[in-house]
Amino acid sequence: MQPSATIRESLNTPVAGRYDVIVVGGGASGTVAAIAAARSGARTLLVERGGCLGGAATANLVAQWVAFFHGETRVVGGIPFELAERVQAAGGSDGFHRYVMGEAAGTPFPLRVLPFNPETVKWVLDGAVNEAGVEVLLHTTFARTLLQDGSIAGVTVETVQGRLAFLAPVVVDASGDALVCASAGVPAKNDGGERQPCTLSFRLSNVDVARFRAVPSEQRRALVLDGLRRGELFWESLSFVSTPGGTDAICLMSRIQDVDALDARDATRAEQEGRRQIASIVGFLRREIPGFENAVLADVAERVGVRETRRIEGRYTLSEEDIMQARGFEDAIALGAGPMDRHQPGGTGIRLYAPPEPFEIPLRALLPVEVEGLLVCGRTLSATREAMAGARHMATSMAMGQAVGTLGAIAAASGRRPSAVPAAEVQQRLEEAHALFRRAQIASPGQTA
Ligand SMILES: Cc1cc2nc3c(=O)[nH]c(=O)nc-3n(C[C@H](O)[C@H](O)[C@H](O)COP(=O)(O)OP(=O)(O)OC[C@H]3O[C@@H](n4cnc5c(N)ncnc54)[C@H](O)[C@@H]3O)c2cc1C
Repeated sequence: MQPSATIRESLNTPVAGRYDVIVVGGGASGTVAAIAAARSGARTLLVERGGCLGGAATANLVAQWVAFFHGETRVVGGIPFELAERVQAAGGSDGFHRYVMGEAAGTPFPLRVLPFNPETVKWVLDGAVNEAGVEVLLHTTFARTLLQDGSIAGVTVETVQGRLAFLAPVVVDASGDALVCASAGVPAKNDGGERQPCTLSFRLSNVDVARFRAVPSEQRRALVLDGLRRGELFWESLSFVSTPGGTDAICLMSRIQDVDALDARDATRAEQEGRRQIASIVGFLRREIPGFENAVLADVAERVGVRETRRIEGRYTLSEEDIMQARGFEDAIALGAGPMDRHQPGGTGIRLYAPPEPFEIPLRALLPVEVEGLLVCGRTLSATREAMAGARHMATSMAMGQAVGTLGAIAAASGRRPSAVPAAEVQQRLEEAHALFRRAQIASPGQTA
């Protein structure tokens, strides 16, 4: 949407609180950032626009955490792994499973993932943030970044009480869209506007998952290609996650093209087109796919899943070469596992390939240029498009969150700018919290959970 004019608004915004660290966005990375900051002693506020924490995992029904493992080797520990264990203990997951990403696509890819019931994740995260002492505000939408002399001073947000201001020397932008960074004037990388497609997920009940799994993969692929030819399916996949119980299928099968999720009209079109596709897909599955004959549509995600919007300009840009050549970094603070998965913009395929080894993510990729006191985590890290495709998975995003939450708390407690805190201080704290961030920390390949 291109506005045609501007009006001037004059606001007197009440200051509703002062904190050490404010985290904007309670998704994969932001929830962990807030827990890490609070556990490190920071007075921490977490603001989330939705009615629950978890981000893509809950609001988008992306019901499996990917990238805890590279092959059979676990590469993410600390708070993210603790949360994975808590979800299992709460009965929300049967544990890590093998899963074929892009199953029925041209390049299927086997992975070890943690599938879960998103509803359980919601209350496990509520418990974890409350225990850590994080103040959480749900239904609270970030509005503007407050700056003073080029440094972060806080944020304004929109709530049911109206517009409020919260002040802090450190703000973590975990919005997935780099909203705080954009408002602060941090430049974003622009690759000519090409973006991966969006997906609106849905949940089917009364599915005979075992019967479906027994269908040979060549037959599944033939069925998918037939559905695509007839215009009833939208990408080369029958991709779904089955929650504990084995009678539900959470399906990631819609594919909505040419969406700029930062454009209000496009974002609306994406939701409506997603629902149109779901109506078609559900009909196809019930008619054509063994195991889905009696399926019932139980739920559609609260909002469409967006794979990419902004990537910030940071103090280092993680590249595909860094990942594929397994480059080591002095300031490594998280380990990624991939895969690098690029959903074809404009097409029906997916390109999947594996980093040869777990890859290190440097702290500098989470420090925006120009603005002090601002940190990022999750899919908006400073990376090339390809590197972002390998680093955006939720376990990796959570690991980045633990690093910046820890850094934010150290900086606020010592009155230093985050960029003045040596990476070694953050690494020491991360090590004490059992986080994994260097390849050298990983035991011999083959280690499992
Ligand atoms: C369709 C799809 C399928 C995927 N499949 C997988 C998969 O199988 N496994 C996997 O591990 N990863 C998968 N991913 C990738 C992964 O989900 C994301 O890359 C990851 O969640 C990024 O974490 P994040 O913290 O940056 O963002 P998110 O988890 O999206 O969290 C961002 C949070 O910020 C909040 N927010 C946004 N704007 C505001 C605002 N103005 N004010 C307050 N809060 C705000 C949002 O509501 C959200 O809770 C998938 C992604 C998509 C879209």
